[in-house]
Amino acid sequence: MNTQPEDNYRHKGMRKQLVDQLRTKGISNETVLSAINEVPRHVFLDSSFVELAYQDMAFPIGSGQTISQPSTVAFQTQLLQVEKGMKVLEIGTGSGYQACVLAAMGAKVFTIERQRNLYFKTKEILEQLPFRVKPFLGDGYEGLPTYQPFDRVIITAGAPSIPEALIQQMKPNGIMVIPMDNAEGEGQTMLRVTKLDDGTLKKEEFGDFKFVPMLKEIGND
Ligand code: SAH
Repeated sequence: MNTQPEDNYRHKGMRKQLVDQLRTKGISNETVLSAINEVPRHVFLDSSFVELAYQDMAFPIGSGQTISQPSTVAFQTQLLQVEKGMKVLEIGTGSGYQACVLAAMGAKVFTIERQRNLYFKTKEILEQLPFRVKPFLGDGYEGLPTYQPFDRVIITAGAPSIPEALIQQMKPNGIMVIPMDNAEGEGQTMLRVTKLDDGTLKKEEFGDFKFVPMLKEIGND
C-alpha cells in the first residue's frame, strides 16, 4: 500500500501545542522544534493512542518497548547539534520517531534495532513517510562498519558503558549522545561525548533519565 498516513488539521494543531509546551520545558533550538512540528508522531503509535500522541509522555509500542517522551527526544536531539547533510547513526530505532525527527533536520539517518518484530513493524511505517531514514536489524553495540564514519551517534537505550566500536566509527570532532547507566543502578545520566582531534573523549553530563536497557545481539524478546 502506498497511501500516505492521515495528518489532518487537528493533528497539526495538537503538534503545535506540543511544540509550545517543549519551549516552556527549555527546548530552544528552532531547528529541533520545527522538526518536532513536522513529524506526525501519531503515525508511530497504535491508532487507539492517537489522542495521546501529542502529550509529553512515553508510550508502549509493542514488544515491551517504548517510544521516548517528546521532551526527551527533543533534549537528546538538541544536545546532538545536528546540521544538514550530516550522517547520523541511531541505536534503538524503536518506533522510528526519533530517527524521523533527525531526518526532518536534514540528516542522513541510519538506525539499528535489535528486536526483530519491532524492526519489521517500524520499517513498514518508515516506508510510508517522506523521511530519509535507513533502518537496519542488528546489534547496536557493533554499529554499522559499512556506512561509517558518522558525524553523530545517538543512543536511545540505557547503556552500561560507551560502546567502543561506535567511538571508532565516529569522525574526529564527532558527537555521541548516550544515556549511561548510573552507579546507583537506577536510570541513566545523559552524556554528551565529543571525540576530539587527538582521539580523546570530552564528556559532559546533562541530568537523569530513564530508558529501556541496551541489550546485546538481535532477539525476539
Ligand atoms: N528511538 C526510539 C525509542 C527507542 S526505545 C523511538 O524514537 O521510538 C529503545 C530501543 O532500543 C528499543 O526498541 C530496543 O529494542 C532497542 N535496543 C536495545 N538494545 C539495542 C541494541 N543493542 N541494538 C539496537 N537496538 C537496541
